[in-house]
Amino acid sequence: MDKQFRKTIIAGNWKMNLLASDVNAYADELLALVPDSHGWCEAVACVSYGSLAAAVAAFANSHVAVGAQNMSQHESGAFTGEVSGLQLKDLLVKYVILGHSERREVFGETDDTINKKVHATLQYALSPIVCVGDSLAQRETGVTDDLVSYQVKSALYGISGEGFKNITIAYEPIWAIGTGVTATPEDAQKVCAQIRSTLESLYGAEAARATSVLYGGSMNDKNAFELLAQKDIDGGLIGGASLKADTFAAIINAANQ
Ligand code: PEP
Repeated sequence: MDKQFRKTIIAGNWKMNLLASDVNAYADELLALVPDSHGWCEAVACVSYGSLAAAVAAFANSHVAVGAQNMSQHESGAFTGEVSGLQLKDLLVKYVILGHSERREVFGETDDTINKKVHATLQYALSPIVCVGDSLAQRETGVTDDLVSYQVKSALYGISGEGFKNITIAYEPIWAIGTGVTATPEDAQKVCAQIRSTLESLYGAEAARATSVLYGGSMNDKNAFELLAQKDIDGGLIGGASLKADTFAAIINAANQ
């Protein structure tokens, strides 16, 4: 099975939830519930900017990595309110979510901006989790496959095969995010397979086979196992169900089965 060629990644997206002062208790609970995964499943906590330093300290020397939820495409300068890749690297952050649908919809991020951010991650050896996904109207119109291919190609425009090695893609149907409605395992698998075939057209079969493609959208401790059993789903990006250490631990443990 091709899954042996790629890393399983379970990434929690805390969004604008929890406090820096909550991080230690969360980390203690999570690390007690998730035995060391020996490199099989990479667990990641993507916390808000204000909690990054606390999370890096709390998860230091553990098997849980820390990620940010966004970053600027610029390195430094007059960009009030922004945080750069250089600053994330300085904090010892490893991952960064880019192109989340909330960034696209609420903050007007375009495919072009997301592409610039993906390029910027390469300079700081950050690992981007690039989100793509369809709205309900797009799904019902039957444009999902074309749309996600377009989003993937746009995000990766100008990224070399070498640069691509560090990149993870997450399929996040917008209609499933925070709604409690999950894509069926079959539907999620179909789109993740489509993403892999787009990656193959860009970087070749070997690179596509080695890339982790995640599913996100109301994944929880009840449905994770079935979603993660699909052959092209290599992990999850989890919002609501990552806010409690015990449910997030249950998802990580489902991935490690
Ligand atoms: C997300 O925000 O990336 C997400 C998948 O959220 P939820 O799990 O709450 O649907």
